[in-house]
Amino acid sequence: MKSYFAYIRVSTVKQGEHGSSLQEQRDAIMNFAARNGLRISAWFEERETAAKIGRLEFTRMLKSLRKGAASGVIFHKIDRSARNLTDWSVVQDLAEQGVDVRFTQEAVNLGSNEGRLTGDFLAVIASHYIRNLREEVKKGMRGRLKQGIYPLAAPIGYLNNGGGKPKTPDPERAPFVRDAFHWYADGRYSLRTLRDELYARGFRTKNGKKVDANRLQQMLRNPFYIGIMYMKRSAESYIGVHEPLVSKAVFDRVQQNLDGKRNAVATSHAFLLRRMITCAHCPYRLIGERQKGYVYYRCHTRGCPTLTIREDQVIAVFKTRLRPLQLEAAEIDELREMVLARFNQKEAWRDEHTHALNLRMEAVRTRLSRLIDAYTDGMIEQPLFSEKKLSLLMEQKALEEERSLIARNQSDVTRTLDAILERLKNVPLSYENGNATDRRDFIKELTSNITADRKELDITLRSPFREIASVGDVLSGGLVRDEARTKRIQSVVEVLMKWCGPGGQTSSSPPYAPPLG
Ligand SMILES: [Zn+2]
Repeated sequence: MKSYFAYIRVSTVKQGEHGSSLQEQRDAIMNFAARNGLRISAWFEERETAAKIGRLEFTRMLKSLRKGAASGVIFHKIDRSARNLTDWSVVQDLAEQGVDVRFTQEAVNLGSNEGRLTGDFLAVIASHYIRNLREEVKKGMRGRLKQGIYPLAAPIGYLNNGGGKPKTPDPERAPFVRDAFHWYADGRYSLRTLRDELYARGFRTKNGKKVDANRLQQMLRNPFYIGIMYMKRSAESYIGVHEPLVSKAVFDRVQQNLDGKRNAVATSHAFLLRRMITCAHCPYRLIGERQKGYVYYRCHTRGCPTLTIREDQVIAVFKTRLRPLQLEAAEIDELREMVLARFNQKEAWRDEHTHALNLRMEAVRTRLSRLIDAYTDGMIEQPLFSEKKLSLLMEQKALEEERSLIARNQSDVTRTLDAILERLKNVPLSYENGNATDRRDFIKELTSNITADRKELDITLRSPFREIASVGDVLSGGLVRDEARTKRIQSVVEVLMKWCGPGGQTSSSPPYAPPLG
């Protein structure tokens, strides 16, 4: 009795193929062998996964067959012997070399020209089918993405709820993820100190381990946490229906800090303004050094016109910028009353604002659909398309957040207002009274940008201090007449109205955040 090899292939990635499980293939081959009086001398079982490319068992079997270890081979079906036409030509070669190739489900005799033609024909159909199947799998993912459902495993802080359902916050880990974003946005942690802090407070991976710094960085970079699903392979992004864990404003600050940290080469922790001064000519931060009792910050780029700048000069400029923020205690109380009174009057203002936001969202949607048309018509290339789409989705997200902030109640308004007024009250003293860490925090809290250009310094205050200061610049100085004073107060009220009201804190520059706990 001639001996035959039996070959079985199952794939864990395929979908919609029926009747080809491992056991079904094995049974079919055993029945076929018994019916035809063939003896099976060895089984080769291939288990394919999406990650594994190639067919190890198939290659091993080929080697053996070429050495004449069996006179033939039995496959379940043609599509089990070949995944594509390249595979198929290998099977054809076997038959050419005199190996008896049999299929349990197809009566094809590869020993004859006619049989080969039939086999070719069936292989073409099989490979067409497999191609479609892959396309379907891809489409299945895209379909879900378009419904806002993430087709991959849940990122840390979320739970998987089965294929067709949105991810939901993991009650155990989501609070840590939120903390991680807020702490990192605050700028006081490095990835490593953040990792340790989270671990100390009980944050663990699913395996009960400390989250490593790389994974933490991936997490902080993932826009999934603000509700955007970014697919790495296709570089495409989609709006998710899952509940975001952080606001876009916080996410943006985290990205800025991550970018900043990457650029800071060697920073000493001793310097007050470390990583805070940007060079106007290079994308880098200035690096602190001590010389003859003075602290200097230097741009380390060779040949850069920004050489060094003295710390006390930076502080002097900073203090000048604060001068218009110095309001009297009575003025501050007056401001508080006026702002709150205006809020109480302005219910209609809320509707107006919502309406304006709806119009802006509509415009973004129109731009998005035009962009998709342009891409479909081949007017723009895929990388540009993906980039523009991501930025439009980001904009949409920001507008949605702004709209949800409109629902903020009066107590939120009061809290934000009081935090700002408290800051204003203490501006003259805060810097002088603090220790080094307090001073650094104070500068960070009030400035959004310090840029050095040669010997010139440009210090930008954070909103709303920037706006309040610019009112002061115009009106303060010398003897403030009553009329001018009233005008000034009115203008500051306008700024505070905008800022504390719905949507006030989602402006594009990093907003003022009351210090944590
Ligand atoms: Zn420079």
